[in-house]
Amino acid sequence: MDAGSLRWELEVGMRAVREAAAVCRAVQAGITREVVEKKDRSPVTLADWGSQALACRTILEAFPDDPIVAEEDAASLREPGSEALLARLEAIVAGVRPGACASEICDWIDCGASPAPQARFWTLDPIDGTKGFLRREQYAIALALLVDGRAELAVLGCPGLATDPSRPDEVGALFAAVRGCGAFCLPLWRQDAATTPVRASRTAQPAGARFCEPVEAGHSSHDDAARIATLCGIACEPLRMDSQAKYAAVARGHADIYLRLPKAEGYCEKIWDHAAGMLVVEESGGCVTDVAGKPLDLSCGRELTANRGIVATNGLLHDRILGAIRELGIG
Ligand code: AMP
Ligand code: MG
Repeated sequence: MDAGSLRWELEVGMRAVREAAAVCRAVQAGITREVVEKKDRSPVTLADWGSQALACRTILEAFPDDPIVAEEDAASLREPGSEALLARLEAIVAGVRPGACASEICDWIDCGASPAPQARFWTLDPIDGTKGFLRREQYAIALALLVDGRAELAVLGCPGLATDPSRPDEVGALFAAVRGCGAFCLPLWRQDAATTPVRASRTAQPAGARFCEPVEAGHSSHDDAARIATLCGIACEPLRMDSQAKYAAVARGHADIYLRLPKAEGYCEKIWDHAAGMLVVEESGGCVTDVAGKPLDLSCGRELTANRGIVATNGLLHDRILGAIRELGIG
């Protein structure tokens, strides 16, 4: 593929996501059953902060004038009483980037606290799918470059997805896309490997289709998805996954449809939860809209205030799914 004028951004973006993923992996290695049983959220917070610190640092080293709109900030980390947590964070980050001190780490995290997106900015979710992270299932590190309200570059690290679906023994996939240049995948943990083009499925009949949806029923109505499946004659059980790994599943043809059907009245989707996944699907030949069929509008600030819910498909099934949503009065 020819990444054209964004070649340098692509290289830096992939490095940023790989470093962030390495922090997540290091934190995850220390999650014991006891931590999960105690409902101790500190591994998630540490990994969120460590991931955001390193990704922001790498982006800003290369592009010091680019704002970054990321999910976390370091405000609570700077408060008195957080010294122990900060020391743990320092040790984790040093494992990936030796020599980083606590105050620098806080500053890197806060580089992601850009309030007002400008003409060109990056958006980052340092760990998308925290529940999947804790369960050791699917989570993602999602990075996108937006220019004039459009995603132009996407990098999606999926530590829990097979690198190549035909070889389930190697886990960890890095998806990337540049607008107009296609989407591709490569191993997350090996730098020297060749890239594989990523293509959405060619399934045109709903009866042979598989859809994915969030694991958390509070994030998307499983009942409404089941009604759509029944109406369209989709026989396959839904694939439930946390995080933007769902977009990757559609992009590589492992699923044909991703449904995120509004549940909580007033919940607004966040740009860092969709910008990267959306571009990966679009560049794989698929289509992404909201439940009304409107393109996602990434130009409204941190939230997608002009959209409700998400429908991502391989393209061929899009109209059929939107038709079913209309018929059932969903959204
Ligand atoms: P998923 O793993 O697909 O369930 O998506 C995880 C993302 O869901 C998190 O990053 C949150 O930003 C987002 N989220 C939180 N609450 C809601 C909600 N009520 N509806 C939809 N998404 C939500
Ligand atoms: Mg998220």
